[in-house]
Amino acid sequence: MVRSPHEHITIRDIWEARNRIKPFVRKTPLIPSTGLKEHTSSQIHLKLENLQKTHTFKIRGAANKILSLSEKQKELGVTTFSTGNHGLAVAFVAKELGIRAVICVSRKVPTAKIESIRKLGAEILFCGNSQDDAESMCYHLQDEKGMTVVKPFDDPFVIAGQGTIGLEIMEQLPRVDTVMIPLSGGGLLSGVALALKTNDPNIRVIGVSMETSPVMYKSLKAGKPVVLEEQETLADSLLGGIGQNNRYTFQMVQKYADDVILIPEKDIARGIAYMLREHRFIVEGAAATSIGALLDYRFNHEFQEAVALITGRNVDLDVILDIAHSHL
Ligand SMILES: *Cc1c(COP(=O)(O)O)cnc(C)c1O
Repeated sequence: MVRSPHEHITIRDIWEARNRIKPFVRKTPLIPSTGLKEHTSSQIHLKLENLQKTHTFKIRGAANKILSLSEKQKELGVTTFSTGNHGLAVAFVAKELGIRAVICVSRKVPTAKIESIRKLGAEILFCGNSQDDAESMCYHLQDEKGMTVVKPFDDPFVIAGQGTIGLEIMEQLPRVDTVMIPLSGGGLLSGVALALKTNDPNIRVIGVSMETSPVMYKSLKAGKPVVLEEQETLADSLLGGIGQNNRYTFQMVQKYADDVILIPEKDIARGIAYMLREHRFIVEGAAATSIGALLDYRFNHEFQEAVALITGRNVDLDVILDIAHSHL
């Protein structure tokens, strides 16, 4: 019997993902941040998925899913809805494998992201003003053309792919005690937390979202998935619902997140500026949420060896220049 991720995702699925995606992803560096150490009096390490191929971690989950498809499914192609980074990753992997990819995007997605997807040769379908409109179009393509929908987070293969970051963190910093993880649909947090907590259940996993439209946070409070209207935020990659029929990530985040904290826009901007000034890195708003949290004194620093996941760097240069002008 072939084992594949199913209702109950385990650490084996993450090890399998690691072998499967190895040729497609980089093992990203984990570096200490001396500046943040002075700020927090703890060791803070940055896991640099901004240096990943396609400039975000999303390629890990996308590659694990697409590589697991049957030949027939690969022939019919893949489709996805996405605020950008997941679409980019799907387009990249599809191109590497010579598979057709259709990316459905809402009109809210920043132009930089759309241009990058187009450059990868994927077809782009604009549909509506929200993630939900884009999602409906995907299922239409699935029904009409037999394409496989590669979901951005609520899929066992995607979760296991993102979880490979957790294995790398364990290798790079066996003494890790806390990991800050930008949180939207929760595929990243679910996979990484499963990998970490299987090694040591005492490792603390903290989800970080923006104050505007934090869907997972509100869903956790409500005890079930809720729908919120999308609002403008610097952390645009964290926008989007978690799905009313969420099967995996809501429960996994419920089980694994020790805390979820919310970051105001001004601290996200501060995080972006900090990464520019201290590390000379361009990072996007979603990735800067964990830095924003660490810079905030309200946040209780109860850790010795913490990791902040720097999840991506796909951001319009205008945004970076504005923040540079106002903060540096
Ligand atoms: C997708 C994404 C996240 C959040 O991942 P989820 O699995 O949806 O929680 C965080 N940061 C960046 C840059 C992303 O693209």
